[in-house]
Amino acid sequence: MAKQFQAVRGMNDILPGESALWQRLEASVREVLAAYDYREIRLPVIEKTELFARSIGEVTDIVEKEMYTFADRNGDSLTLRPEGTAGCARACIEHGLLHNQTQRLWYAGPMFRYEKPQKGRYRQFHQVGAEAYGMAGPDIDAELICLSARLWQHLGIRDVVLQINSLGSSTARAAYRERLVAYFAARRDELDEDSQRRLDTNPLRILDSKNPAMQAVIAEAPSLLDHLDSESRAHFEELKASLSAAGIAYDINPRLVRGLDYYCKTVFEWVTETLGAQGTICAGGRYDGLIEELGGQAVPGVGFALGVERLVAMLAATGQVDEPFPHAYLIAVGESARCHGLALAEHLRDQLPTLRLRMHCGGGGFKAQFRRADHSGARFALILGDEEVAADTVAIKPLRAAENGQTTLPRDQVAAYLRAAMLAEQP
Ligand code: ATP
Ligand code: MG
Repeated sequence: MAKQFQAVRGMNDILPGESALWQRLEASVREVLAAYDYREIRLPVIEKTELFARSIGEVTDIVEKEMYTFADRNGDSLTLRPEGTAGCARACIEHGLLHNQTQRLWYAGPMFRYEKPQKGRYRQFHQVGAEAYGMAGPDIDAELICLSARLWQHLGIRDVVLQINSLGSSTARAAYRERLVAYFAARRDELDEDSQRRLDTNPLRILDSKNPAMQAVIAEAPSLLDHLDSESRAHFEELKASLSAAGIAYDINPRLVRGLDYYCKTVFEWVTETLGAQGTICAGGRYDGLIEELGGQAVPGVGFALGVERLVAMLAATGQVDEPFPHAYLIAVGESARCHGLALAEHLRDQLPTLRLRMHCGGGGFKAQFRRADHSGARFALILGDEEVAADTVAIKPLRAAENGQTTLPRDQVAAYLRAAMLAEQP
């Protein structure tokens, strides 16, 4: 027997049984983002490695150990995108979208990180990201948070809490960083290996450690919020006031950090307890230094990215999205019925654009075709045999127990019959 292949570890097939959930989520994303007038941008899945090294930072988990990097046939170092912010910023600079104008953009698609696969953590995963450029105040931060909150509401997802923090300006953070390093250095023996390494490279990320053994030493660390510059403090106060006014509850988490140097001021995460260890479904923040770092003008930016697999898992738990069944299954027995069957199916699709009609293909007698029709979950079987073709009629048999028996209708009345049945079905 020929060798049977398997998908690459950590890369998932999304099977037909799951895709209804994904489509539901994608439809909500489009609708909610449109309600805030965000426009979609579609970006390549591969960028130059240098872009990620520069924007995400050399001493982050992503760049140090998670990227899929390869040389193309020309010897250029390319990387499968681990996130979308860098490519989005690159595209905006490249196409002059940030000159004297603001932008509200979103993107969706697969991201790639070489991580240890586990529930909620994959090597190919999907994000929806929103980015806003050219707006420096807390109003746009609040808008992005409201937008994400509306999305959860739209999807019927509860059990998520918002955590916010402020990272302050880069100057204030540099001063805080020194205090933090002094604090952790004094307690170096309490740090795990990862954190000891980060002490020299990226000490703020220690605050982000998920290691339970580290929580005590982290809890007693100096707080970022006590070291904010006055401008960042005012920004944070206004953000909190706006969120409260909009009725959005939040927790302040002074340990919430993003490990990248260009982040400043607002950072936030939406977290749930229902998914186990991988509980962050959405993470975002302000990155006023990024565009300049990538060679553009000094344009402020703020955005978030949400993890689609984690959201889909939450959506599945709500049980509100069903796999769609066909409305009707067309049975045609006999050669002339088969020809007429195809024409009938096309006619019905012309008449009823939302009709889900499955046509039996592959021949067989009535019994075999009925078995397939039953199995399809369809509500009606439409039946064409020699008799119906001769009389220009179609027999309609409800397949669900509660409905009445078979009727026969003139061919040109079938669409109206199905339309009425479909309307009656709508909740
Ligand atoms: P973590 O600390 O869980 O590794 P992160 O800080 O690396 O998260 P971000 O880069 O902020 O994550 O990505 C935004 C969101 O994308 C996350 O909150 C999560 O929902 C999702 N995400 C990130 N990495 C993965 C992954 N490997 N598999 C599935 N979803 C992911
Ligand atoms: Mg990560």
